[in-house]
Amino acid sequence: MTLTASDLADLTLWRRHLHAMPEVSGEEHETAAEVVRFLETTEPDVIVTGLGGTGVAAVFSGHAPGPTVMFRAELDGLPIAEISDLPYRSQIAGKGHMCGHDGHMATLGALALAFRRRRPARGRVVLLFQPAEENGAGAAAVLADAKFKPLTPDFSFALHNMPGIALGRSWIKDGPANCASSGLMIRLTGKTAHASMPETGISPAPAIATLIPAFAALAKGTLDDGDLTLATVTHVTIGEAAFGIAPGDGEIWVTLRTVSDDQMAALKEKAERMAREAAEAHGLGVTFRYHDEFGHCRNDAEAAAMIRRAIAAEELPFEDGKAFRASEDFGRFGTVSKSAMFFLGSGENHPALHNPDYDFPDALIEIGARIFLRIAEDLLG
Ligand SMILES: [Zn+2]
Ligand SMILES: [Zn+2]
Repeated sequence: MTLTASDLADLTLWRRHLHAMPEVSGEEHETAAEVVRFLETTEPDVIVTGLGGTGVAAVFSGHAPGPTVMFRAELDGLPIAEISDLPYRSQIAGKGHMCGHDGHMATLGALALAFRRRRPARGRVVLLFQPAEENGAGAAAVLADAKFKPLTPDFSFALHNMPGIALGRSWIKDGPANCASSGLMIRLTGKTAHASMPETGISPAPAIATLIPAFAALAKGTLDDGDLTLATVTHVTIGEAAFGIAPGDGEIWVTLRTVSDDQMAALKEKAERMAREAAEAHGLGVTFRYHDEFGHCRNDAEAAAMIRRAIAAEELPFEDGKAFRASEDFGRFGTVSKSAMFFLGSGENHPALHNPDYDFPDALIEIGARIFLRIAEDLLG
């Protein structure tokens, strides 16, 4: 299955069109509509919309029974204003495709063009355009959606473009690939007072002052040893911006990070216990809320071996990669299928992901598509 020069020219234009119209997690309505418009021209057997919110899937079925192989891209951009002179820079104020998800969508677009010409011999391919990856909600929402049940894959694959690695070079790793992380919002409630009589109120300040270094001190371990633990304080508020009021409440936000889901459960328990003890010691009420929860992302050995084989068969450069501290919600698909993802280099000196001048290198569309198509051919003929 090969892509023509005119396919690649069309896909580059489409990638740039998507780049100019970023939408943030959970709000990808125009992007999803644009994906559906594109997919309709490739004549899949089924298009499913509204998956886990705005998600879209296209199904290309073979004639004989066989496994379901899913490839995943993400629909969402970021609330980051793009700094760029590119002719196709973001047209939406304060929002940008600064993680390269526009390029991941174009890569799956390439697969749709290829399967339009030739269906897999057996089984079926599902191309999933998932919403809300950046806040960790999307994959879980897709999996919880009854419309996804009939599409449940046997194998799932994804790639992420990665600056710092040579352009077009792949990194693949067995086992843990990305960390689990959870945003813990701790709310402490006391009692306001006149600033002249703070002793008549209950301020959250002393508790927060002890918790900030206590959370920092939880940091330990390394990724390579599989025991990395981080509790990073990202935001703190105390009372109101006023001089006349002694504060009566406050919040401390902590991002918890571990290599595995089990370690995350233990770290959550520990962080909550520390906050409860600090609250009790100072006579405060305490409540907890979690946001941006990502499960660990772990590559199945069999699925990772398929990626390696496909890259080798395409005679593309690759090496054994390292795990990343950052989180990736693709790992959730590992709960229902043999799943693996790999990283595709965007260039050693390319701006980092989430930088305001990030732009997905168009050359990766073809490379990513060739690897995915080879995997599909190996599994489905
Ligand atoms: Zn991102
Ligand atoms: Zn991303």
